[in-house]
Amino acid sequence: MSDKSKIEWTDATWNPVRGCTKVSPGCKHCYAETFAERFRGVPGHPFGFGFDLRVVPEKLEDPFRWRDPRMIFVNSMSDLFHEGVSDEYIAAVARVMMRANWHTYQVLTKRAGRLADMLRGDLRFAARADHIWWGVSVEDRKYGVPRIAHLRRAPAAVRFLSIEPLLEDVGTLNLDGISWVIVGGESGPGARPISPPWVRSIRDQCKAAAVPFFFKQWGGVRKSKTGRRLDGRLHSQFPPRPQVEAPDARARANALQDLRLAASY
Ligand code: SF4
Repeated sequence: MSDKSKIEWTDATWNPVRGCTKVSPGCKHCYAETFAERFRGVPGHPFGFGFDLRVVPEKLEDPFRWRDPRMIFVNSMSDLFHEGVSDEYIAAVARVMMRANWHTYQVLTKRAGRLADMLRGDLRFAARADHIWWGVSVEDRKYGVPRIAHLRRAPAAVRFLSIEPLLEDVGTLNLDGISWVIVGGESGPGARPISPPWVRSIRDQCKAAAVPFFFKQWGGVRKSKTGRRLDGRLHSQFPPRPQVEAPDARARANALQDLRLAASY
């Protein structure tokens, strides 16, 4: 768990799963893989197994250790709905999010079919919580756009799109039932180029549909040079966040105890 994140649209990251496998063109330059593989073979390092998929039950309770409410990006270094993660473990992650409800959680996946199926099934208890935002990645028309329809069939209170890395003009999007859209270009070595008209098109569609729009970055090989201004201004909108008072240490300990009594992890 990282207390502070450099990712522009979140405060912190929490990784009860580590590692993943690639599913679509958006994964080509996966930053998580590049980072994790640097540490393969390093004894005792959290990524000593590189980017191999594994669950990390000892990280499950981390949100209880943070008193102040944060926006938490869940599994920035993995994909919670990866086929190698059991339904039971995903439900355990959701129970933590439900109980530690003073935070806002951002769950982002490319496995949109499983997300929708589970939110209609074993995760129904967490679907309607407005402090858990469920999102899918959209990088292109072929792989990314169809994920939006899956997301829409999930009975989620808050659904969002992360259109990053934006690899082509994704055309007209159906934004019905979507509460937030993030857009960004790819960054780092070999970054594939983004075109301003693609971004403007999404911005304008969000405006017309009254959907909050967040432009994260232009990206490129040196993203600090290209910044995140679009037509001279920043776009940093979020959906409304529920305001839940931070519990004191005793209340957090009690909540954790309740969770442990009910837990199967
Ligand atoms: S789904 Fe996400 S974490 Fe997994 S390989 Fe693709 S980009 Fe990386």
